[in-house]
Amino acid sequence: MPIYLDNNATTKPCDEAIAAAETMMHENWHNPSSVHRAGQEARYQIELARKSVASLVGARARQVTFTSGATESIDLAIRGVLAVAQARSDTSPLLLTTALEHEAVRDLTEELGREGTADRRLLTLDRYGRIDAQEAVQAISNLRPAIVSVQWANNETGVIQPIREIGRACREAGSLFHTDATQWVGKLPCAIDWGDHAAETNPDSVPIDLLSLSAHKFHGIKGAGALVTSRRVKLKPRLLGAQELGRRAGTEATLAIAAMGTAADAAQRWMQDPDARAQIAILRDRLEQSLLEQVPGASINGVDPKDHSTPARLWNTTNIAFPGVEAEALLLQLSERGVYASAGAACSSGSLDPSPVLLAMGIDETLAHGSVRFSLSRHTTRQEVDQAIPLIVEAVKRVQQIAPIHP
Ligand code: PLP
Repeated sequence: MPIYLDNNATTKPCDEAIAAAETMMHENWHNPSSVHRAGQEARYQIELARKSVASLVGARARQVTFTSGATESIDLAIRGVLAVAQARSDTSPLLLTTALEHEAVRDLTEELGREGTADRRLLTLDRYGRIDAQEAVQAISNLRPAIVSVQWANNETGVIQPIREIGRACREAGSLFHTDATQWVGKLPCAIDWGDHAAETNPDSVPIDLLSLSAHKFHGIKGAGALVTSRRVKLKPRLLGAQELGRRAGTEATLAIAAMGTAADAAQRWMQDPDARAQIAILRDRLEQSLLEQVPGASINGVDPKDHSTPARLWNTTNIAFPGVEAEALLLQLSERGVYASAGAACSSGSLDPSPVLLAMGIDETLAHGSVRFSLSRHTTRQEVDQAIPLIVEAVKRVQQIAPIHP
């Protein structure tokens, strides 16, 4: 059986999601906008899913707009807010973001900057690939941007960003705060201040106005995601029509949405036990430590081995730089041995460019070329990790022999 360590690319659908999708295909395949009873049953299933997704991020059902995934949610959020801001001003609205974002944000904001829809500026990073919180707070209060977009956790390194400070600064400055929470949601609980009374009971909650998430990252199925918004948000929709309160037209992907609802419930149940994720973090650490010990010169991207103040990372992710190898060659050797992993973002695999995220973190280009991401899930077992370690070491040695790269 292959050992799947590529869960930040996508996760295996859980049994609950598969069962929900099957029921929708066999029984509730009708159009949820139809007024007949069958249509209304499909609508009911969608509204149940909306409640489940809302509950996963501590929001109310009416805050959730279903989309096809995180990429579309991000596009709707950023373009939608900028279009409203642009209509109110003669100059291009200011957009603050980072060089660490997934390409769904990075490519979009670069394009918006190029075409003059936004004045795009980047926040400063520290040496671990984390935004410098103090500088970010300063920049937000000085510049008062129309929108700030910062990921909650990085898909390549797992590094968690200081979004509480950023969200607070945005609220004070009157800026809208968007977070790409695709890698966070379903892995760690969300304590979010949506700007209503609920937050007053939890002073640690993170002020957020727009949040993007995707079902297939938390054991749902592909084709469903959501944009969750606070009441402050005014958006210009991209697709015009009646569905989703006019925010996202098109007949809803009912089976993917119903599956996302049950996957959200399953993730929430799993997250109630912090020990469960601590156990997977132990497996991740075991994988990391063993590879550092057994591959001379290997290092972890996003972590300083000498510094205990290294920033927090997701419990499931490690990104390891192997010296003297090209990641693509290593991934093929790993695949032959039944170990599945990724280099950089999954969608850029197959290209020989090193990850722009690793380069933005200041990682040397040769090391960025030889960096591989291993991402575990709540289903990863100790047996799998123990089997993977010698296979990875063997694959690295093989690539160093047959296709060495010299700095
Ligand atoms: N944002 C992050 C951080 C991601 O990891 C991904 C997927 O890799 C996306 C956005 C895009 O998600 P989707 O595949 O749902 O469009």
